[in-house]
Amino acid sequence: MEMDGADVEVMSRRNFLRACVAGACAMPLATAACSAAQGKVRVEYGGIFYKKEARHWQKGANHMVTCALCPRACAVPDGERGYCGVRENRGGTYYTLVWGNPCSLQIDPIEKKPLFHVMPGARAFSVATAGCNMKCKFCQNWNISQVRPEQTRNFDLPPAALVKVAADRGCKAIAFTYNEPTIFYEYMYDVAKLAQEKKIKPVMVSNGFMNKDPMTELCKVLSAVKIDLKAFTQEFYKNLTGGRLRPVLETLSLLKKQGMWFEIVNLIVPTMNDKPADLRAMCKWIKKDLGPDVPLHFSVFYPRYKLRNLPRTPEKTIFAAYDIAREEGLNYVYLGNLRRAGHKTEQTYCPNCGKIVVGRRGYRVTSVNIKDGKCASCGQVIAGVWN
Ligand code: SF4
Repeated sequence: MEMDGADVEVMSRRNFLRACVAGACAMPLATAACSAAQGKVRVEYGGIFYKKEARHWQKGANHMVTCALCPRACAVPDGERGYCGVRENRGGTYYTLVWGNPCSLQIDPIEKKPLFHVMPGARAFSVATAGCNMKCKFCQNWNISQVRPEQTRNFDLPPAALVKVAADRGCKAIAFTYNEPTIFYEYMYDVAKLAQEKKIKPVMVSNGFMNKDPMTELCKVLSAVKIDLKAFTQEFYKNLTGGRLRPVLETLSLLKKQGMWFEIVNLIVPTMNDKPADLRAMCKWIKKDLGPDVPLHFSVFYPRYKLRNLPRTPEKTIFAAYDIAREEGLNYVYLGNLRRAGHKTEQTYCPNCGKIVVGRRGYRVTSVNIKDGKCASCGQVIAGVWN
């Protein structure tokens, strides 16, 4: 590990708090991270405080490297970076430029990820860096995901410091989220390993566009994963995300095989991925290949970034999706981003007796009727990570 940046600003706690309040980062910064700044915390625009040799890459001829982290398989000449803009070839060795250099920190309820079957009501210390391996036209966090680490205000938070911040703030989970965590793989892995030692559950919020070997390795240190299954057609992936459907489905199947707890989100974009036949095909595939107990969250689209020409998802469409998923036999189906908090589609029902086992109002948990992983009324096992 090498310290970059001779002109690094050393911030006092007061200035750090001020920077946080000013919203210097793309996401609103947490009082969590701020108040953890006991002593000195460094933060600066383009603060690449560390560079670390990457994992999952191969050396080629003439100082070329090939990245093996995600299905893009970027072939990167000396001095250049991969598609995600955060992995750089320096003299034939591949480095990550985001290890220990997060740009966004916040405490969220774990329901916001959304992970509805993981420790209801837990606080999740959420962390992101610059960069992404997709270019979704509807990205909500494009101002961090579509830029390089030189263009964000970054914090000097190596894994041990980050885990300490989370522990000090009483967070039971650390969430890798907002941008695509695949591209800060090494940081995520090291944080997750340390977090497990401190009894904090590391969770990843991902687009699932990762190769099999790194994903398998990561399963050893993660506690739960949320995957955005953005659509069930390659056409959507090609035109709106720059990614591919097949590798995402393979990741989901791998997670199932590894015994990892995971939930799926499908953002319904009007006219783009809202055909009932496609939604039905997706639900059938989930039930057959992943099982009926995988939670499926349909989410309302809001016009964002390069897709401002479309309206928000009509309620009729999203309720129809809910009905399709239930008809196809999925046990846990949820609707997110509705205007009405506390709607019946936000609750978790026992698939046996039909009673509410986790009640919610928006991101707030209002009741938990689960005992030892089972419905408190009828004893039915409720799939999830409840402890
Ligand atoms: S992680 Fe980044 S550099 Fe590696 S293959 Fe994917 S986009 Fe390319």
